[in-house]
Amino acid sequence: MNTSTRPQLQITTLAGGIGGARFIRGLTQSDLVGRECDVTVIANTGDDIWVHGLRVCPDLDTLMYTLGGGISAERGWGREDETFTTKAELGIYGVEPTWFGLGDKDIATHLVRTTSLQAGYTLSQVTEALCDRWQPGVHLIPMSDDRCETHVVVDHPEKDSRAAIHFQEWWIKYHASLPAHEFISVGLDSAKPAPGVIDSIMNADLVILPPSNPVVSIGTILNIPGVADALRNTPAPVVGISPIVSNAPVRGMADACLKAIGVETSAAAVAQHYGARINGGLIDYWLIDESDSAAIPEIEAAGIQCIAVPLMMTDIDATGDMARVAIDFALSGN
Ligand code: GDP
Ligand code: CA
Repeated sequence: MNTSTRPQLQITTLAGGIGGARFIRGLTQSDLVGRECDVTVIANTGDDIWVHGLRVCPDLDTLMYTLGGGISAERGWGREDETFTTKAELGIYGVEPTWFGLGDKDIATHLVRTTSLQAGYTLSQVTEALCDRWQPGVHLIPMSDDRCETHVVVDHPEKDSRAAIHFQEWWIKYHASLPAHEFISVGLDSAKPAPGVIDSIMNADLVILPPSNPVVSIGTILNIPGVADALRNTPAPVVGISPIVSNAPVRGMADACLKAIGVETSAAAVAQHYGARINGGLIDYWLIDESDSAAIPEIEAAGIQCIAVPLMMTDIDATGDMARVAIDFALSGN
């Protein structure tokens, strides 16, 4: 069948920063996917933080820059050809936080966002306006327009007592090395899903959980009232891709996050943490890396259909191939 005559597939994904952005870039920019896809991305905003008076949304920006061609290939976050003069000057003044990587070009994005929010626009509206420039090729929406920030309860090394610190401080300053007792979503009590979040899940042909952090990226989005229920109830199949390969995160410190919620760092444990939709959970299908193929029986016994394929997002086409497999696998049962 000629792919150009097939209708566009409506895909909705939940996503954090780097893992989510790289997967969605493969999904939308590789010819190997072989399907026309209309993609909505619901982004984690639990990482958002005020820095030097600026509203910074790290995952939204990583998605926007990666899909819009402006991301630093080397770092995986922030802008290509970036300078850090402003950050250095702030450091000389001795103002905190000195550990947050604020690039000069990046600051322009935060200035536009901050002034627009202060003028009364919602984060959804501001994101849409920023995307006018970046043309990410997807509908990029925040999980919520309400402030809902992830904080981490730790034994604070400087205060000699248990304290909650912002997720970014835990992740960047302490490199997740302080054992986390608990993650708290500050503002969750009054947070609502942003416009389009629930509808895009309920009306999708396919929902994908990309290889994003299951706790502080996907987990944070799932906490927003109505989102997990939408995944349980959507008529669309739900397929996830494991961010854990050979019992370790491919990048970052997801193991420290999983440990804090009592989940083992393995592809099988993460699948069972999400749970099978036939048993009231969130996923129908799960992709694991070839190296973890021995876990297939355990995952299938939990009611989740599973296949093992290469899961390293080495380039856009390798990722596109992974996206194609995810789509074909999830639609094969329909
Ligand atoms: P963050 O917000 O920038 O931390 O990004 P995400 O939450 O979207 O993604 C982080 C996750 O991506 C980590 O847990 C990594 O293990 C996973 N990841 C990064 N690169 C790859 C890859 O090439 N393959 C797979 N399977 N997972 C990856
Ligand atoms: Ca993130």
